[in-house]
Amino acid sequence: MGKEALRNIKHILKKIYLNIGNKINFKRSKIVDEQDFNRERLTMVEEQLRRRDIFNSQVLEAMAKVPRHSFVPPEYKSAAYEDRPLPIGEGQTISQPYMVAVMTQSLELKGGERVLEIGTGSGYQTAILAELSREVFTIERISTLIQKARLTLQELGYRNIYFLAGDGTKGWPEKAPFEGIIVTAGAPEIPQTFLSQLAEGGRLVIPVGPRYTQTLYKVTRRGNKFQEEDVTGCVFVPLLGDYGWKEE
Ligand code: SAM
Repeated sequence: MGKEALRNIKHILKKIYLNIGNKINFKRSKIVDEQDFNRERLTMVEEQLRRRDIFNSQVLEAMAKVPRHSFVPPEYKSAAYEDRPLPIGEGQTISQPYMVAVMTQSLELKGGERVLEIGTGSGYQTAILAELSREVFTIERISTLIQKARLTLQELGYRNIYFLAGDGTKGWPEKAPFEGIIVTAGAPEIPQTFLSQLAEGGRLVIPVGPRYTQTLYKVTRRGNKFQEEDVTGCVFVPLLGDYGWKEE
């Protein structure tokens, strides 16, 4: 074999060697990232949830399991377990972990429920609901967001979620009644559509009030009576639609 051929073979072998090395290093750094995220998520549960007023063990377990970093854009991944909402594009946000936990705890899920969610956003709250109930029906008005959320949730293996793109203020009458309804955008008042689609004994959790600051209400259906409870103050993006705020 000539010197030139030998040099070529050496060159090719070196390339293969470097390529394999890079792949191994890339995988290793991904594993390290995952381990860091897992640690940060457990700290989030202890410091932001358990130390406040989140006492429902199933909710705490679900929040410890669902990888919030999978639902945020790459530039915000390092902030995924901070105590705040984060941008997800289209002028919308993934809710603060504490708010997701408070709303979920207020639904008092036991595992057999069918839940309606208005405002899929990133799909993070949807995943928490899917962990704790039988079926989740989720509606989002921005189609790019619901498409992305659907992909993320499918990749994570959720099979009990049904998606609808459109105006969620109308609810999902064909699938009603629901034992739980959760609205993750602020409404000027409680839309009648949600009350009529609530099952007997079912819970509706919804932020209501002026455009830039609201009160989170839990509404429980008792026959044709609706018992309202004020849970906490909150700030949500507006619920836009026929029975919500009108678009400007
Ligand atoms: N829970 C979501 C998460 O974990 O990422 C965050 C939801 S974000 C605070 C509120 C979402 O409600 C936005 O994505 C917004 O587009 C959506 N929204 C507002 N009005 C809506 C409507 N009438 N129907 C469906 N979705 C609506």
